[in-house]
Amino acid sequence: MVMGTDATTLSLGELRQQLDKTDEDIVRLLARRLETVSLIGKAKAEHATQIRDPHREREVLARVEALANSLGISGPLTRKIFSEVIDYSVSRQVASLVDSERRPVSVAYQGQPLTYNQLAAEQYIASRDLQGHFVGLATLNQVVEQLTSGQVDLAFLPIENTVAGSMNQVYDVLRERDLHIVGEDSFRIELCLASVADVPLPALRRIYSHPLALEQCSAFTDSLPQVQTTPFADSRDAMRAVAEAKDPTLAAIGSSEAARSHGLVILRSNIGNQDEILMRYVALARAPLPVDERVSCKTSLILSTRHEKGALLRCLQALGEYGLSLTKLESRPRPNRPWEYMFFIDFEGNVVEARVATALEALRTEALYLKVLGCYPAKATPQVAQASEVKPSEEAAVPEPARPSVAAKPAIRLSKHYKLADRATRSEDTIVRVGDLLIGGDGFVVMAGPCSVESADMIERTARYVREKGAHLLRGGVFKPRTGPYAFQGLGLEGLDMLAAAGKAAGLPIVTEVMAPEQVRAVAEKSDMLQIGARNMQNFALLNAVGKVDRPVLLKRGMSSTIEEWLAAAEYILAQGNGQVVLCERGIRTFESATRNTLDLSAVVVLRERTHLPIIVDPSHGTGRRAYVAPMAWAARACGAHGVSIEVHPDPDKALSDGDQSLTYDEFASLMDGLARVRV
Ligand code: PEP
Ligand code: MN
Repeated sequence: MVMGTDATTLSLGELRQQLDKTDEDIVRLLARRLETVSLIGKAKAEHATQIRDPHREREVLARVEALANSLGISGPLTRKIFSEVIDYSVSRQVASLVDSERRPVSVAYQGQPLTYNQLAAEQYIASRDLQGHFVGLATLNQVVEQLTSGQVDLAFLPIENTVAGSMNQVYDVLRERDLHIVGEDSFRIELCLASVADVPLPALRRIYSHPLALEQCSAFTDSLPQVQTTPFADSRDAMRAVAEAKDPTLAAIGSSEAARSHGLVILRSNIGNQDEILMRYVALARAPLPVDERVSCKTSLILSTRHEKGALLRCLQALGEYGLSLTKLESRPRPNRPWEYMFFIDFEGNVVEARVATALEALRTEALYLKVLGCYPAKATPQVAQASEVKPSEEAAVPEPARPSVAAKPAIRLSKHYKLADRATRSEDTIVRVGDLLIGGDGFVVMAGPCSVESADMIERTARYVREKGAHLLRGGVFKPRTGPYAFQGLGLEGLDMLAAAGKAAGLPIVTEVMAPEQVRAVAEKSDMLQIGARNMQNFALLNAVGKVDRPVLLKRGMSSTIEEWLAAAEYILAQGNGQVVLCERGIRTFESATRNTLDLSAVVVLRERTHLPIIVDPSHGTGRRAYVAPMAWAARACGAHGVSIEVHPDPDKALSDGDQSLTYDEFASLMDGLARVRV
């Protein structure tokens, strides 16, 4: 206020000056409020209290609203302003517990400056109290590549929209890549219609925008029958095209910021089909970000259920029994698996809480595949506010559930190294699905094919032959673990294409070996099953890598490994969330030199007792001699294995690897005849 002056006698200029001064005071007061907030944050940090205190927030809002009413200004407006102020204050306190690093972060998003994706990224970074450097890229792939290669710290991506639903492409990224959700935000989309001049709506002929924006404004555009819509890659491109054309019959839909930056006139604001369109965004990083237990968190995961009745229900019960409430459950088709689904689940809880860790463990035993996508401060759903109203003391009083099966089942654990693989955790046999083939339970499968894929022709002929004789799955190595570096090392990814084509032509799913974590993603894209060879049974980085993909794994026994070590290796894969493990006995090193290895068929009966995972037997590597393969395959069936893996070659004497143990076509045919006669 201009001191000592009666406001009613001030000139317009003086009044404006007075207004500017008041605005400055408001900002200064906000800064002072935030200083106090940060002191409160420190006080909270010393006492283990929850950051958000909904009870206190309600009191503050009621008090300011009452004060506003008594001063004759709008109570609801004041409440709205203070809700924003409180939200910001809380996010600053959360930020102080989450982002310890204060350096500027680089954030990639899809689109151009002033599109919603960038505005939302800015809002998110500001709410985390960070400084951001923003990089707009044309495609989602480019955003993901920049993050994966370390060029940016975060990728900020839209994941769902209150009108259009989930963004499938982003979920595909989360499923396929080793990236982690470290934050979320919701952003109000206020779409406006803009043109070069203030024209009446009936004068418009064409409206440009991003397809999603057009979809969100369909009711509005449908009300203009003379108008045609044209999709653009980006709403900002649409605005630019309208500005450059200088044609008043054209208009674009996008943010008011983009319209203004192109000098366009806003014809209508808020033209979305719903009053409020919210977009939920996620921030992705290369590594997970641990979040303090006092911050309300959400955890997101992907799971595939077992092929059993009530499988999804049991997974949800595993969460419900620990009092974890779902904020999202959505199903998506499983890639390349018609009419099979995977589920995207968000629930309220922090992975550092004991109840969440135990619930996830219970879920791992129920699900066939589980991937935790991230745990991050909750922001985007109204349920979060309700749930956090449970005071810490009440929360602590939630009774420990009677069943998480993991601890409560009558388990006599055989080993401290594995529990998910343990029969004591799960009494039913696990059935692993490979393509359309089920392995485990009462079935018996035959995997057959050459040691190595040597050419397109040999693998195609062999595939057709073994299929004709009743094999269920085509094997063939393309990355070969050879004793010496001068031996044939396999045809690599080119060989994989040959194997995949041969499998497809013969109607057989395929299995092939991966030798390094870097190969896993590429091989998983084309192979129905991944083999871990004997030499890699304890390659823990490789086990972890196959544990992260949604592909069944054939885990061969290490040639000097005990059954316990083998199950502990399987546990690595299961613990990463991939429950689709099949064990393969392939012989061990003993003092006996009459055979290449000593095929340990007693492992089959031991494993059937100790684990619920399926077991198959490889008598080719197990004996190393062609003549011994068929009898040991029959014996494997007789002792309860779930299948065999047999090396077959069109001309074994000329094979580039393992010719001595490979069967000719005819020998394979008689092996199959004999198998059919084995009584179990
Ligand atoms: C194979 O199956 O071709 C192979 C290399 O097996 P192992 O890892 O059991 O030696
Ligand atoms: Mn071999």
